[in-house]
Amino acid sequence: MPAATTLVDLGMHAVPIDLSTTYPARDSRREAARLDMFAAGALEPGPPIYGRVGNLTVARFERALAELEACPAGVAFASGMAALSACLLAGVVAGRPHVVALRPLYGSSDHLLDSGLLGTQVSWATPDTLYRELRDDTGLVVVETPANPTLAEVDLRAMADTCGDTPLLVDNTFATPVLQRPIEHGARIVLHSATKFLGGHGDVMGGILACDEEYARRLRQIRTATGGLMHPLAGYLLLRGLATLPIRVRAASAAAAELAARLAADRRVRRVCYPGLVEDRPAGQMETGGALVSFELDGDPHAVIAAVRLITPAVSLGCVDTLIQHPASLSHHVVDPQDRHHGGISDKLLRLSVGLEDVEDLWADLDQALSVGVRGTTTRASERRGGAVSAGVAWKALDALT
Ligand SMILES: *Cc1c(COP(=O)(O)O)cnc(C)c1O
Repeated sequence: MPAATTLVDLGMHAVPIDLSTTYPARDSRREAARLDMFAAGALEPGPPIYGRVGNLTVARFERALAELEACPAGVAFASGMAALSACLLAGVVAGRPHVVALRPLYGSSDHLLDSGLLGTQVSWATPDTLYRELRDDTGLVVVETPANPTLAEVDLRAMADTCGDTPLLVDNTFATPVLQRPIEHGARIVLHSATKFLGGHGDVMGGILACDEEYARRLRQIRTATGGLMHPLAGYLLLRGLATLPIRVRAASAAAAELAARLAADRRVRRVCYPGLVEDRPAGQMETGGALVSFELDGDPHAVIAAVRLITPAVSLGCVDTLIQHPASLSHHVVDPQDRHHGGISDKLLRLSVGLEDVEDLWADLDQALSVGVRGTTTRASERRGGAVSAGVAWKALDALT
């Protein structure tokens, strides 16, 4: 079909899902030439020949996310970790296997780098020591801002200036392009675990990298060779997720800011990590404080996890419903305890990913769970509010199998 054909021209409204694993063609000489182009990582017009080479539904998601990140290209993968792996392999293939990274990072990213599983070598740095760690064979600098789970922000412009020609990869999973576009602050590659806010409903796994076309070619080459593909159904669900992304992220961020303020004013809480509460933030980098809040209480974090009722006690983030987890036990369990503590992740720290429930319902639940965590008892203030429940409460209250 001609490239200019729109959905409206086709008489369609919802995006079609192309589930083909193979694409018929009568001219095999032409296909051979196209296959060479695909193998070199080029984006060829027309059907992708074979499912591992590309997919039309996924390509649509790639273009949409690339536009949101103000990048020329997007390359999607089966998960965020598959996307990061492709970047690490790209450095190894180019003879630059050294990586400089800033802690804290998402636990599995930390583990993948620290273990050297893919043949990379890591030097851990701070914004101040970055310049000392860069070497001739450094293929990548990796940073997360706000960082998981301390929500510390890194000044990307300053980092990019120090990096010079070394590609700077920014994990933008927490902020999303709604609140922050790292390319505009000097990053070369933007990574997302699409599993989180981009999908937004806790029912799809994926990863995506937004970058320039030259780097995208290397990534497509690696993806075709290693097969860490995004499934077309995931591409479809992610496109659907993008349609509501700005509304979800802004609403969840507003609720998170409110909860962060209440936690900061609460005597049961020892420390609150939330970008919106920090005075000296990188200027013009992130629009609001985002939808995640981490905090430490004077009590037992495990008891809080066990006590929440509306909030879901689960790892992951960026869902329509609010999730709480204990990083030292789950998301950052794979990180060595000493490195964890060094990165500001204490054993008391809890991470809350705020969803779209009514903020008063969320506070009521958090309030009673904090009391359990601190004193082992619930308070009167936490009793269920009367009247109509918000949509977020209503769907959760249904029996699992009816
Ligand atoms: C979840 C996450 C990842 C890993 O993504 P998966 O889709 O789980 O593979 C990477 N970075 C951050 C910040 C994450 O939250």
